[in-house]
Amino acid sequence: MVEPARFLVHYHEIGLKGKNRRHFEQLLAQRLRDALGPEATVRLLHGRLLVEAEPGRADEVGARLARVFGVAYFARVRTAPVDFDRVAEVALELIEAQPGSFRVRAKRANKRLPFTSPEAERAIGARIVAATGRPVRLKGADVEVFVEFYEDEAWVYTSAQRVPGPGGLPVGASGKVVVLISGGIDSPVAAWRMAKRGARPVYVHFHSYPHTSLDSLRKTVAELEVLARWHGPARLYVVPLADVQEEIFAHSPERYRTLLYRRFMYRIAERAAEREGAGALVTGDALGQVASQTLENLHAVERAVAMTVLRPLIGMDKTEVIAEAQRIGTYEISIQPQQDCCSFLEPKRPATKSTPEQLDRAEARLDVPALVEAAWSRAELRRIEPAD
Ligand code: ATP
Ligand code: MG
Repeated sequence: MVEPARFLVHYHEIGLKGKNRRHFEQLLAQRLRDALGPEATVRLLHGRLLVEAEPGRADEVGARLARVFGVAYFARVRTAPVDFDRVAEVALELIEAQPGSFRVRAKRANKRLPFTSPEAERAIGARIVAATGRPVRLKGADVEVFVEFYEDEAWVYTSAQRVPGPGGLPVGASGKVVVLISGGIDSPVAAWRMAKRGARPVYVHFHSYPHTSLDSLRKTVAELEVLARWHGPARLYVVPLADVQEEIFAHSPERYRTLLYRRFMYRIAERAAEREGAGALVTGDALGQVASQTLENLHAVERAVAMTVLRPLIGMDKTEVIAEAQRIGTYEISIQPQQDCCSFLEPKRPATKSTPEQLDRAEARLDVPALVEAAWSRAELRRIEPAD
């Protein structure tokens, strides 16, 4: 039998206690299974996880592990019996391509082994020195050899094989959120940040068809297919906003238009959240980025709903958001041209400071519940699969 490719997956344990920890570990194991499919096996061991897959899939499995939230870092490991000579042989092969000083770090999950971790480090280190004459450096070694003893096996890897994961919490650990996604640069990054903290995103996109094209929807779907590579398949509600916008255009003061569009988006998204059992709304707002994102306007818009509105990008610069969008993989899609749904009938001089009362008055001639209901009843639900 061919030896499977083995990966040791580590997570950060800080803040994980008791029942919480069991739940986290089981959820992370499940998210790894979701990401890797049924042919890979995932086993929960003392404080880490072991993934086994067909060796031909090793690169692909590595790429997928790097996108599972909750993974702090992982490494492809070589297996050896619990025998210092054999462990040293494997270590020598691994560090051959990495010159310079080294050190060995050992860990024992099996506390019945007849040696301590420092003893194992010294014994294996001495064998490597004897074979190569390479210098040991306890601080700032060029390469670190990690040896983890588990039951009757030792897993060996080096610092060069350690790959960082995204960190955070496994998706689902923090419940669900409804993300308002526009097809632009910011909202996919906001969604990614929430998913990283364990919230499963459900998406709502508003379009102004036939006043604008459906480009924004096409871009949104393409962005979501990229995001789904991180958090798995997702649900998207596509909602027509044109009728609401026409009513606002006809019956409300021009300078509040954009803010009123937003209020309706929040209200309709709140309906989606109720349907989905989601605990908050999420937007890609950053403070002061545009007129609708001043403190006053964010507050005045938000007062239209009872639900918590989270804005994970609020303190970020555009350049930081762009860099993150590039890392996530949504940036190139988000900069394709589109007609923004809110540029439709955009005010020439939008209000930069409004109050909730001003917006209430500005919509006094609208039948708000009926408009929300009408738009929501026309929402179409789509399922998004990862782009892979
Ligand atoms: P983005 O890059 O996410 O579009 P932005 O800086 O262009 O953000 P706005 O267009 O003012 O900002 O939108 C602010 C937030 O409102 C967006 O991040 C998104 O959460 C929500 N939003 C705006 N337009 C839409 C839309 N058509 N559908 C769903 N949500 C939207
Ligand atoms: Mg936008």
